[in-house]
Amino acid sequence: MLRLSEQWNLLDAKRRGAVLTVARALEEAGHRAWLVGGAVRDLLLGQEVGDLDMVSKALPDEVVELFPHSREVGRSFGIVQVEAAGRWIELATFRLERGYSDGRRPDEVQYTESLEKDAGRRDFTCNALYLDPLTMEVRDPKAGVADLEKGQLACVGDAKGRFEEDGLRLLRMARFLARLGLKPAAGLFEAAASSRDSLRGVSGERVLEELKRMAEGPASQVAMGALASSKLLGLAITVGKQEVLSDEPLRLAAWERISVANAAPSGLELALLLSIFLDPAPGQILRESEIRSTAQSAFRLLRASSCLGQQVTDLWHLRSYFANNPKQDSVSIRAFRGPQGPLALELARTWKELQGEQQARVETLLAWFEELPKSRVWPDFLPSGQQLLERGIPAGPRMGELMRAVEDAALMGVVKDQASAVDWVLAQGPLS
Ligand code: ATP
Ligand code: MG
Repeated sequence: MLRLSEQWNLLDAKRRGAVLTVARALEEAGHRAWLVGGAVRDLLLGQEVGDLDMVSKALPDEVVELFPHSREVGRSFGIVQVEAAGRWIELATFRLERGYSDGRRPDEVQYTESLEKDAGRRDFTCNALYLDPLTMEVRDPKAGVADLEKGQLACVGDAKGRFEEDGLRLLRMARFLARLGLKPAAGLFEAAASSRDSLRGVSGERVLEELKRMAEGPASQVAMGALASSKLLGLAITVGKQEVLSDEPLRLAAWERISVANAAPSGLELALLLSIFLDPAPGQILRESEIRSTAQSAFRLLRASSCLGQQVTDLWHLRSYFANNPKQDSVSIRAFRGPQGPLALELARTWKELQGEQQARVETLLAWFEELPKSRVWPDFLPSGQQLLERGIPAGPRMGELMRAVEDAALMGVVKDQASAVDWVLAQGPLS
């Protein structure tokens, strides 16, 4: 465990200044302000600090009065965003939460003057740490530091009850295990498994947001493994539709292999995750109708953007194409050079490898792509429409066809420069 004051001094000066400004303003008004939650935890672990959350016993009305630049983000929950030293900080009021009859939002929020009681509503012990930035005093009413020292993630209070109150905590559990490199406390996975129905109360948007953070975070294979070990994977990925995914171990193995190898380009991690865990038939040839119907139902539930949906369906089309006896031709080059091409080929190879199928053809194709000069993959000498017009080819659909055809010829190495490309076009029979 690191020395907190040293870590605090490593935080960038502007953010430190903002926290101190808020703390001093509250101190003058007779309140003690605390940095709380993930920021304190990450400082202790020496990890990069994300958003800054603070808390005190000052009620929202008083906070709004003290800070002229403030936005009420969750008034009913006692949260106000305040601007200090050019930064926005979420400043909450100590509170208790009572009853989660819908498994999503507390039925009632009650303010309290007690830091200890505020700690009781937080999800994990390491998220119930408080730091007074003016004195560097730490309050740790739920023994979160001891859990961090043991390297374990534990719920505040009875795990099953806490997961049943709010299904989002189940997803946060998997994310924190991976991101913080912690082990589950004894009984945590069992409690999570027996509360898995509460995932049905989490909206598709929140599920997708958590999956994105898991996919992009470090040790993303650990996060998905934790979901599987606690029997949450199916319900999470399908937003409550399916308890267990078909071929779950196979999908996990594929995710592990590709994510450990770091094969997903930045920005495609979530698309890769969905493509693996929602694939209608892992490693099999997919029909267009199968892709369409899976995409429609699954992406609607997850509220996936059309861009994300397109990335995933492209991965399915391409991985299926590459697995289905691909040839060393222009169609393959077009498939490979697109943004999802290399990852789709990696997927095709991984599925085959995991299913013990012949992968020689995919390997050969990969070796062929690797050997191809850039000028074959992205020919830069192709004649423009204007140049073809000047050579007497009329504008119209036929010209479009010819331009695509001459690009195919370039991809296949039949034409190698602009002169031969133009000759090739002119030689293509009578023009309609
Ligand atoms: P990160 O910002 O890296 O996701 P964090 O722990 O700061 O981690 P936030 O979502 O910023 O997470 O929440 C701030 C704090 O609020 C948490 O540390 C935790 O104490 C509390 N909290 C957040 N979500 C929940 C929840 N669903 N149930 C109980 N407490 C929660
Ligand atoms: Mg946070």
